[in-house]
Parts: sequence; structure tokens; C-alpha cells
Amino acid sequence: MSEVHEFLGEAEIAARVKALAAEIRRDAGPEAPVHLIGVLKGAFVFLADLMREVGGDVSCDFIAVSSYAGTKSTGEVQILKDLDRSIEGRHVVIVEDIVDTGLTLSYLQNALRARAPKSIRTACLLSKPSRRKVDVPVEYIGFTIDDRFVVGYGLDYNEQYRNLPFIGVVQGVG
Ligand code: 5GP
Repeated sequence: MSEVHEFLGEAEIAARVKALAAEIRRDAGPEAPVHLIGVLKGAFVFLADLMREVGGDVSCDFIAVSSYAGTKSTGEVQILKDLDRSIEGRHVVIVEDIVDTGLTLSYLQNALRARAPKSIRTACLLSKPSRRKVDVPVEYIGFTIDDRFVVGYGLDYNEQYRNLPFIGVVQGVG
């Protein structure tokens, strides 16, 4: 495994996740059930931390989509693992690791909106605005970063590095 250069540390991430969770709870209202939908696999660490900070009535489900190569602007994204439960009438927050071109998220938002949730918002830990191909609404953004390939805190490079507690760049990759 190559060396990883840290640029977002554990404490910094934890503080930001806590702030995002507070925003999510504030927007939903103190009593409302919040249903988090994690996009596998990259978002599972973020979701686990976020969920414990949102507090109150909070539940989760997961969806897996085919990874989109990002070279075409009209790419079809396929659902590899669908949600276990219906989202009809629920306050949904999509939890995504990183929004890059925005194509995956745009597809997901449309697909889930068609299932008639009461509300649908999106939380992304990271955003690379310089890479965006479609304008996609993201209500909660953890950190805005430059165009570089990052790993850690759930994000992988060839299935490695997901376990790192920080976010960094792999030497020779990013
Ligand atoms: P988009 O459809 O926005 O181009 O792609 C988003 C997905 O690409 C993310 O959910 C993530 O799985 C992957 N991705 C984009 N940028 C990075 C990155 O810097 N590191 C890692 N590990 N995955 C990335």
C-alpha cells in the first residue's frame, strides 16, 4: 500500500459531521423522523457518524449503484442493491460520500423523488465543484475540495484505505 497524505484530520471531520447533523435535525424539526439513505459503499462511515449525531427519531437504509466512469455526460447509473423499505411519505436525506460530476447523485435524486418521499435532501461529505457536469442540489456539504482523488473515511482506491480515520491523497494517485 502506498503512503497517504492526510489533508482532513479526524477531529476536523468529526466537528464538521456534528455541524451537518445539527443542520439536518434543525431543518427537519425536533420531533420529525429522519430517514437517511446511505449510498454504498463510500458513504457508510460518514453515515454511521452522522446518524449518531442527528439524534431523535432517525433510521437508515442503503442503496448501491454502479460506479459511473465519469467520461460520458449522459451516463446511465444502475441500481445494484435497492432500498429495503419504501420511502413514501418520509423525510429522506441521501447520504453520499462525494459529489464529483454530480451524475450519480442527479440520477439518484430523480429515482428516489419518483417514489414520493415527503421531502428529499442530500448530504455530501465532500464536493468537487470544478468537476461538476450537472447542476445538482446539495443542501449539506461537509468540505469543498479541489480536483484530486481522495481516500479514507469510507472512500477507497481499489477497495483499500476505507478504514483510514482521516481523508487524504494517495501518493502517485491524486
Ligand atoms: P459522480 O457521479 O459525482 O461523478 O461520482 C461520484 C462518485 O464517484 C462518488 O460517490 C465516489 O464513489 C466516486 N468518486 C469521485 N471522486 C472520488 C475521489 O476523489 N475518491 C474516491 N475514492 N471516489 C471518488
